[in-house]
Amino acid sequence: MDLSPQSKTRTYVATIAGSLLCVAAALFFDSFNWLHMPSDVRVRAILLDIFLPLLLAAPLIFFFMNKLRQLAIAHDRLAIFASTDALTGVLNRSALTSAIERWLVADPVDGIPVRGALLILDADNFKSINDSYGHDQGDVALRLITDAVKSVLRQTDLVGRIGGEEFCVFLWGATQFTADAVGERIRHAVSVTPFMPQGKLHKLSVSIGGAVFDRRLPLSDLLRVADQQLYFAKQNGRNRVAVSPIVHYESVPAAAA
Ligand code: GH3
Ligand code: MG
Ligand code: MG
Repeated sequence: MDLSPQSKTRTYVATIAGSLLCVAAALFFDSFNWLHMPSDVRVRAILLDIFLPLLLAAPLIFFFMNKLRQLAIAHDRLAIFASTDALTGVLNRSALTSAIERWLVADPVDGIPVRGALLILDADNFKSINDSYGHDQGDVALRLITDAVKSVLRQTDLVGRIGGEEFCVFLWGATQFTADAVGERIRHAVSVTPFMPQGKLHKLSVSIGGAVFDRRLPLSDLLRVADQQLYFAKQNGRNRVAVSPIVHYESVPAAAA
């Protein structure tokens, strides 16, 4: 039975339970008077104890619970609205970074090692799309890129738009091998996406920089390394993937210092 704050069942169950409680309370308190009543008056009193709370309490409780339900629904919608990028429908920057940071500090779940990869994607020569076909077509291209990225990810991977034509993908549990493979799948999926502004085929592409980690670290370190790799991918001709492991500089043991 769905008893979440958004469910109608919760409203009905609370209304029935609340009304019965009011009837029970009325019967209990009135029962002290029953001994002194003639039997016909007592029957009338009992009927009143049952029907009066039902008549008064049931609509009030229903109204109150329904308002709470509407509030819970509105709250959920607002939360989704506040965390979603309006153009592409993926997470916006702040929602994505908070979700990654939560994952990076969370207690490890059994069977899921603290390792993964962060990829930063930047659309290649995107300005030329806006300049040649207009901003609306640029927006269409951004949506197509988003669909291509999502099509090769697991449901549980995180994807967000972190800037104008920049996206970020967080692959929890990924190794260097997986990160390279997913990066390449994304690159390929975008490159074969049919984008036909003004009836002409325009080839889309993204450059991808990635950082692979195998222990807890601040998100800023991941972003820095992924950004450097993105720079290399751009320098090496675009439409490329460059993923590097995070190098940890261990502190020198005191005895050796
Ligand atoms: P590079 O390959 O070096 O990344 O070149 P680029 O042209 O993609 O990079 P640049 O930073 O020069 O241009 C990014 C462009 O993305 C500029 C801006 O007009 C466009 N852009 C940013 N946000 C949006 C958006 O929401 N919609 C559209 N249509 N364009 C956007
Ligand atoms: Mg950019
Ligand atoms: Mg770009």
